[in-house]
Amino acid sequence: MPNNNNNNNNKSTKCVHSGNLVDDKYYGNISPIYPSITYDFIKSDVYPRYFNTPNQIGVCKKISDLENAELSLLFGSGLGAIATTMLSLLKQGDHVILQDSLYGGTINLVNTEFKKFGIEHSYVDVNDRKKLDSSLKKNSKVIYVESPSNPLLNIVDLSSISDFAKSNGLVSVIDNTFASPINQNPIDLGIDLVIHSATKYLGGHSDILAGSVSGSKEKIEVIKSSGLNFGSNISEYTAWMLERSIKTLKIRVNAQNDNALNLAKFLSEHNFVSKVFYPGLENHKNHDIAKIQMHGFGGMLSFELNSSIDPIKFVSDLKIIKPTMSLAGVESTITSPALSSHKKMNPDIRRGLGISDNLLRFSVGIEDFEDLMLDLDNSLTKNGK
Ligand SMILES: *Cc1c(COP(=O)(O)O)cnc(C)c1O
Repeated sequence: MPNNNNNNNNKSTKCVHSGNLVDDKYYGNISPIYPSITYDFIKSDVYPRYFNTPNQIGVCKKISDLENAELSLLFGSGLGAIATTMLSLLKQGDHVILQDSLYGGTINLVNTEFKKFGIEHSYVDVNDRKKLDSSLKKNSKVIYVESPSNPLLNIVDLSSISDFAKSNGLVSVIDNTFASPINQNPIDLGIDLVIHSATKYLGGHSDILAGSVSGSKEKIEVIKSSGLNFGSNISEYTAWMLERSIKTLKIRVNAQNDNALNLAKFLSEHNFVSKVFYPGLENHKNHDIAKIQMHGFGGMLSFELNSSIDPIKFVSDLKIIKPTMSLAGVESTITSPALSSHKKMNPDIRRGLGISDNLLRFSVGIEDFEDLMLDLDNSLTKNGK
């Protein structure tokens, strides 16, 4: 099993209890919702866009405790958290170093919006120290990574990124969505800011859109003061739903970790599968780093079908695993990056990144392993003649 540098054992207690609001009027067992968008101005300075409502503060405390952060902020989406964080830290004339494989929405944000504000950027293979060193400019301010990354589950060595950032005066930011706070705590490895698309594992039921950023009080205050100008805030109802969802985060993610590892092994040995990408497999190119820095290997995996199999037919013949774009729900879902998230990319560039036409990205749910295995096996056998 992956080792870890701090205790991962009390996280379910934090998931269930941290930050919950006390109902001291009616003595109810769970957090009340305070949906008010206006408060008595003589007695209170609360306003939802200022990130200071009771429900937001409560959920932020839960996320901070899970990420070992001082403070967190919630947003209306993961991309809201990413855009607000980056635009709070960067200004015209600054330069940001980005990992070369990032979530598509983040790439669109950088390529279209940053240009308008005169913010420069470079994409680099951040595990290649020489390339990383040569990407550094006088005006570099931020390094931004994602690990595990989409869709090939590449792992970034987070300790070496934090060393690089510290020795060059950069703020380090990670999109920790794929790992979830159960499997990886980048702040413990020296990373400054940790972002989640809470739409994914934190939410976990494919029914809420939200995002978060966590870090030191000093850095979060900077993001907060710009963030109230950008206004990408969460609703109190969604914050409350998120609190409820996070209560089961550890048991969900642990079940997804176990299923994913077992299914990765099963697929690796299947005749009609040519490659499997999962950081928990010993043959994954970054397995050694994953073992050191992750508490579990996650619920996401990718695999390549043999070239004789039509991926659309394969996916259509699955009975339990659903063909949908998003990920991290309790239900298993599968998608073809070449036909969805990376469809608009030039096919040669896409294949150059290792995303073949027969690659499928599989978000493993909490169903019973045997049912998922049989579902895959039936469709592979049917289509793999
Ligand atoms: C989904 C996702 C995002 C964007 O989150 P939204 O909540 O859809 O805005 C960012 N990063 C990663 C890794 C994601 O999977």
